[in-house]
Amino acid sequence: MSNLVRCIDRSGQLTCMAADTTAMVREARRIHQTSNVCTAALGRLLTAASFMGITLKGADHSVTLRLAGDGPAGSVIAVADAQGNARGYVMNPGVVLPNKSPQKLDVGGAVGKNGTLSVIKDLGLKDPYVGQVPLVSGEVAEDITAYYAISEQTPTVLSLGVLCTPDTGEVIVAGGFLIQLLPTATEDTISRVEEGLVGLPAVTTMLTEGLAPIDILKKALPGFELEVLEEADTGYVCDCSRARVERALISLGPEELAEMAREETTEVGCQFCDRKYLFTASDLLELSRKSG
Ligand SMILES: [Zn+2]
Repeated sequence: MSNLVRCIDRSGQLTCMAADTTAMVREARRIHQTSNVCTAALGRLLTAASFMGITLKGADHSVTLRLAGDGPAGSVIAVADAQGNARGYVMNPGVVLPNKSPQKLDVGGAVGKNGTLSVIKDLGLKDPYVGQVPLVSGEVAEDITAYYAISEQTPTVLSLGVLCTPDTGEVIVAGGFLIQLLPTATEDTISRVEEGLVGLPAVTTMLTEGLAPIDILKKALPGFELEVLEEADTGYVCDCSRARVERALISLGPEELAEMAREETTEVGCQFCDRKYLFTASDLLELSRKSG
């Protein structure tokens, strides 16, 4: 069943997307054992990455979002492929902060308000496309919206939400929606979009009530006729392999590898999925010859 839908309004003035990323964020939490505030930060970024990924043109293109703030959680990274699948991690996944209000996790406090959001698109060219903007609040959605406005000149409405049980930290729902105005958008359309958002329930409320992504878009854009462009079944996917880990090891250089080869075996864990790769001293010396 598809959990992400992308639409265009029939008059061609805006595109929109919505996703239920509950399963993706649950998997992220299971792998990284994140605290609630880190589950929210990572879950929001994974959802945003999934939205950016699905709009990539080439099947092998990818996008990396790096939220580098000065908060205690450290950097938050999310990578998505062109199918909308995402993976990610938080530098310090166990950070716990007091809530801003009983229901509101302090994501901005964990990420930090000073820093940058980098968007790195690998479009199969020699050099990746890199866009960077200063953080607005560290709350993720506002930071991504600023990126779209500054780097892509696209007026964007973005709502991201992750709801966890306060005590056990289980992910109840996660998801979001995004509306982007096309250059053809008239003043009238812009005000209709703004009016539609007034009083709209939080995205986590709509997901908890059982609304599917398409229903969320219909509720956020009343009066617009939406045409589905694409549907996808997205999840938490890591495509790491031994070959990829070997390439990363080779990039460390011969000296570092010779140092590591003093141990009989070395275990290298994937940052994204925690899969373990074992290397013997002779494996590492072999790689060290390739890196020389
Ligand atoms: Zn992996």
